[in-house]
Amino acid sequence: MNHDLANNIRSKVDIVDIIGERIPLTARGKNFFGLCPFHDDSTPSMSVSREKQIFTCFSCHATGNVFKFLMDYEHMEFPEVLKYLGDRVGINVGNISYKKKNTKYDKLYEAYQLSVKYYQNNLNSNLGKDAKKYLKNRNIEEETIKEFEIGLSLDQKDDLTKLLTNKEYDLVTLNRIGLSSDNHDIYNDRIMFPLYDVSGRVVGFSGRIYKENGQNKYLNTKETDIFKKGELLYHYHIAKEECRIKKSVIVMEGFMDVIRASTIGIKNTIALMGTALTKEQINLIKRLSNNIILCLDGDDPGQHATLSIGNTLLEQGIETKVIVLPSPEDPDSYILKNGKERFQGLIDSAINFSDYKIQKLRENVDFRSDEEKAKYINEVITETAKIEDSIHREVVLKRLAKEFDISYNTLELRLNSLKKDNQKQKEVIIKPQNKKKKDKYTKALEQIIYFMLNNDWIITQVEREHLIFPEEVMRITCNEIIYYYKTYGEINVADFYTYVQEKENILLFLNNILAEHYNETTDKEELFLYFKVVREYSMKQEIKRLTNLMKKEVDPLEQAKIVERIRKLRLGDS
Ligand code: ATP
Ligand code: MN
Repeated sequence: MNHDLANNIRSKVDIVDIIGERIPLTARGKNFFGLCPFHDDSTPSMSVSREKQIFTCFSCHATGNVFKFLMDYEHMEFPEVLKYLGDRVGINVGNISYKKKNTKYDKLYEAYQLSVKYYQNNLNSNLGKDAKKYLKNRNIEEETIKEFEIGLSLDQKDDLTKLLTNKEYDLVTLNRIGLSSDNHDIYNDRIMFPLYDVSGRVVGFSGRIYKENGQNKYLNTKETDIFKKGELLYHYHIAKEECRIKKSVIVMEGFMDVIRASTIGIKNTIALMGTALTKEQINLIKRLSNNIILCLDGDDPGQHATLSIGNTLLEQGIETKVIVLPSPEDPDSYILKNGKERFQGLIDSAINFSDYKIQKLRENVDFRSDEEKAKYINEVITETAKIEDSIHREVVLKRLAKEFDISYNTLELRLNSLKKDNQKQKEVIIKPQNKKKKDKYTKALEQIIYFMLNNDWIITQVEREHLIFPEEVMRITCNEIIYYYKTYGEINVADFYTYVQEKENILLFLNNILAEHYNETTDKEELFLYFKVVREYSMKQEIKRLTNLMKKEVDPLEQAKIVERIRKLRLGDS
């Protein structure tokens, strides 16, 4: 990889912009802070430095420059990131070819790729006529079939298994990755929808029946090493780009809904595929946009899911929006019946989740009963207390006061006391920090390494000094800095990060150094004081070693020699 090209591009973008487009950041002092997307963050623990052009999370220890951020956040490979940023700043990176990293799963991905092709061929063959008719009846056009790589498994019991075993896949592997069971195909006579992971690789299938045969409507691939249901969302790899453009993500229940929405040009969508939302999935959704629109089925289960997902996200401080479809429509059927304009209208008029909840609370309340009325009002206030925005809270309370002719003050008093309780509950969770205390020597070495990253002249000094490091990673980092400087003639943290972005141990160590807030610059005099600390410590270690050696030594002459060496070391100590 061309390091100069990479860092030329890097120097033309601002990491604060790139991260800020994806995660809300607030300025505090010299740095910007936001919720770290790489762990389940509740308080903003990621800091982004405009000056240094790096991000650092002191909670989960993620760190890096803009390249590393995009690679991890967008699940992009380095060359993709270069191209993306190159396009932004008008630098043509050309057609840099690159090898994807080989993983032990390559063979498995390949098996899925072969299956996709095979199923697609089936659908286009004579045997696919009925399936094609079914798709046509459901208004799924040829173009859509291609785009979503829809295919067909045949009613033949073992044709895919045969095909793959002929290509040197063994049965054990095929069983393990969910394509076969014994020597039979898992999927027979179903319309096959490939399921993709977050990078867009096919890792499983959902097979749908297309004639009534009493079987389950959908059959999904079992959990495998590459297909972790709780860690993927249908259409995520496409939605990544689209959500950025549309500045929102629409969450749907089924992949048919997503496919339908796509046919009318609405592609900032993902589907849950019938599972309860996991933590990982929530984190994935949060990455797409902070404007989350729930558009689940209009039936009772769909409305329940809306409440439950909305509540989960609200607990994490995210107020979603809600689209309510008339029961029992789902987005697929709604779009088919009402068309693009009306569906777009629903999106544009999506309501806040809190308002949705308050609206739901009205259902089945008998407003002639004072008791039920009071209960309703209290519940509304409880919900209102969870709303972050103070103006929004006031709007809801005013409406409530007016509708039921209750004084605004009474409602507000009630609300404030509830809010206090909420606050107390939140304060209980304080993260314990189990940091190891560092000794003087470690601190001195870390400070020296941090100086090196910010001052060329110190690198030369350190090279002469021959420091002794207690930990491998310190030595390696120091050597890499020296090597980097000799190769490129200058150094800064962000560029050095490009160079070590694959070396997790070094990144972790750098994160650890950054957390200490060491000084950036110094003068010779002070630098030598740090050297002295290190030297003294190394000497003490050496004396310790020699003392131990002497204890084991039996030859009095050898013992005398060791004593002499210790004496000399001590003399140098003064
Ligand atoms: P269709 O329109 O083809 O009937 P749908 O999108 O309306 O499909 P739903 O019944 O709403 O499907 O289910 C939503 C999602 O739940 C589906 O996309 C599928 O991933 C999953 N699902 C539904 N039924 C099953 C099942 N029997 N086994 C496994 N997953 C299922
Ligand atoms: Mn449907």
